[in-house]
Amino acid sequence: MAPAAVDVKIIAIISVGIVVWLFCMYTCAELARSNGQSYGLWVTIGFLTGPFGLAFAWAYFRLTGERHRRMRYGVGGKSDLPEIIQCPRCGQSVPSAFECCQFCGSPLHGRR
Ligand SMILES: [Zn+2]
Repeated sequence: MAPAAVDVKIIAIISVGIVVWLFCMYTCAELARSNGQSYGLWVTIGFLTGPFGLAFAWAYFRLTGERHRRMRYGVGGKSDLPEIIQCPRCGQSVPSAFECCQFCGSPLHGRR
């Protein structure tokens, strides 16, 4: 194998690496901006950590994004979050998916 061919291969790999890295960096920052976080901060994080930062940002904004959306639209608004209802006996807020109140244990939907 000629040395020149090896050089071209290395340059190609590095170029692809840089493109992937930059893609991760900007995706990271876009995720941050759409979740109301600092664009500049997450560009820096994405720049420093690349794909790892993107994976982290994705997981992080999946968690905090839910909370952000709930604050913006309110409980039971346009979201896929479980509906929150009040326990008929103790008045605590519990997800309607629950069969029984998680605080006092009384049935939430009546027994049939
Ligand atoms: Zn209850």
